[in-house]
Parts: sequence; structure tokens; C-alpha cells
Amino acid sequence: MPLLELLFPSRCAACGEPGPELCGRCRELLPRLLGPLCARCGTPTAWPVARCLECAGRRIAFAQARSALSYSGPVPRLIGAWKERGQRHLAGIAAELLAEVIPRPQVKALTFVPAQRERSLSRGFHPAGALAAELALLWELPLQRLLERVGSPRRQRGLALSERSKNVERAFRACRGAKPPSSVCIVDDVYTSGATVSVCAGALRKVGCRHVEVVAFARAVRER
Ligand SMILES: [Zn+2]
Ligand SMILES: [Zn+2]
Repeated sequence: MPLLELLFPSRCAACGEPGPELCGRCRELLPRLLGPLCARCGTPTAWPVARCLECAGRRIAFAQARSALSYSGPVPRLIGAWKERGQRHLAGIAAELLAEVIPRPQVKALTFVPAQRERSLSRGFHPAGALAAELALLWELPLQRLLERVGSPRRQRGLALSERSKNVERAFRACRGAKPPSSVCIVDDVYTSGATVSVCAGALRKVGCRHVEVVAFARAVRER
């Protein structure tokens, strides 16, 4: 057995090299979204803007969304290991990386985008929920389960933006009897079009939450 494997029985989740769960090189290469950004949806922009081309003219129920990393470079493989191969401890690393980039939100509680039941059962765990639990510890914020899915929507991948929103519009609601505090931050693993978290934010606002923010580990960024 090579010496490195004796010293480090684990491998880097992003590049596969024996060593720590995320090696120093991959950690350095992570495309952090440090700005300038769209103040509303958190997409990287050439200079700071209040609304970007992506979110201008769209009805968005959250006050602001921030993502820590662009979904590129070593990020897809890292997320793949975390989500698909069930490397649960990576949720802790993901939370740490997220908190390095995104300041603690000024809210009273955290919640998370609920998983589709069959998919979370088959994987045995729920990435957004696990990330939210780790962030709750780091940020010393209470974690509340406030949202649930209604039925199971078709998969979002490959759908146009308008179809995505229709697809998710009725897919989430506040849990029965949920009494969210006045401000909540929704945690998700990957932010794609923002349609899902916007519907979740709308559901929370319907039950009395006045201010909803969103944080995500990674964000799909359109090539410009
Ligand atoms: Zn690596
Ligand atoms: Zn925007």
C-alpha cells in the first residue's frame, strides 16, 4: 500500500488523490463567489447591481440569495461525492466553505428545501437538510423544519425557465401548523434558476414570515 494511503485512508472528494477529504489544491481552486454580485439573486456581475438580467422583471419571493461557489471547476465532483456517493461528513466541509464566503444571515432561524421523499430515502440522507444542520451549529441559529413537498414534481433538469416555475409552483408548502419567526433563511445545496427557493420563500411568507433570505453552497452560473 502506498505510504500516502497509510497516512490518509481517505481521498479528496474532488480530485480523487489520497489525502484529506478535500485537498489543499482543490480547496484553493474552488471558484468562490466573492463579488461583485447582483444584490438580489447573488449572480456574479461586472459591477454591483440591485437587480441583474436574470432576476429583473421576475417575481421573486426572497429578499436576497447568496451562493458560496460557482458550480464549476472541482465543485461538481465535490457535490457529486457529497450527494450521490453519500459522503455525509462532506456536509460539514460544505458548511465551513459556505461560511467562509457568506456572512451569517441576519435572521431568526434557518430552514431548508425539503427533499423528494423517494430520492432522500434511496440516498439515506438529505444534503440540504444536513448542510442546514451544520450551518445552524456554526452560526448558532435555530434550525426549524418549516417546509414540505406536495407530490413529486418532474425533474427540473433540461426544462426552460417558465416550465421550471410552473413545475415547482405548487410543489412546496409550509408544514401544517408551521409558525415561522419573522425572518428565516432557507438553505439549499445548489441554486439553479432560483425558482424552487422562490416558491419556498412564498410559502413561508403566506404563513406570516416577513423576510426570507436564501443561502446555497453552489450556484449554476451562466457563461457570459
Ligand atoms: Zn483534490
Ligand atoms: Zn439577480
